[in-house]
Amino acid sequence: MIPEAKLSLEDAAMPKPGKYVPDGTEGITSVGELPKPKAVRLSRNYRRRRCPRCGQRAYRLRPVERTLRDLGDPVSGRPRDIHVTYSQHRCPKCNVYFNADMDDLALPKCHYTHRVVGLAVRLVVEDGLPYRAASWHLWRDHRVFVPFATIQNWVEAGGKKS
Ligand SMILES: [Zn+2]
Repeated sequence: MIPEAKLSLEDAAMPKPGKYVPDGTEGITSVGELPKPKAVRLSRNYRRRRCPRCGQRAYRLRPVERTLRDLGDPVSGRPRDIHVTYSQHRCPKCNVYFNADMDDLALPKCHYTHRVVGLAVRLVVEDGLPYRAASWHLWRDHRVFVPFATIQNWVEAGGKKS
């Protein structure tokens, strides 16, 4: 049997879970000090695609690049940027310009992936977080920086739709 005195001594010296430790990036005011994003490359670059309007095969005019912010890596603490190279095409029949499809990744003109937008909206709608708290949560736990006004725009746009 272990004497009671020894037990409580060991207990006092043992590290305990639940100790509050602030996020390592808290208080950083310059962007340069934040962890560098991990770059991931994706290609949606095709020689030809079918015109979405008439179905005619359209050759590539040029490749273009777009950067999407994705959920980061909580283990390394680094954000994750997806660099998508995609092709722009022009239909020879109806003269329409279009891009290679990437609607599965992100909405047109949006700087964030569907994963980020979906999570941000759930934080507000399901968990009831205020916009600023949702923005901090996304950075602290998912290493993606989204200004709170952007989250507000997403939630309000979604609300109008449904
Ligand atoms: Zn066409």
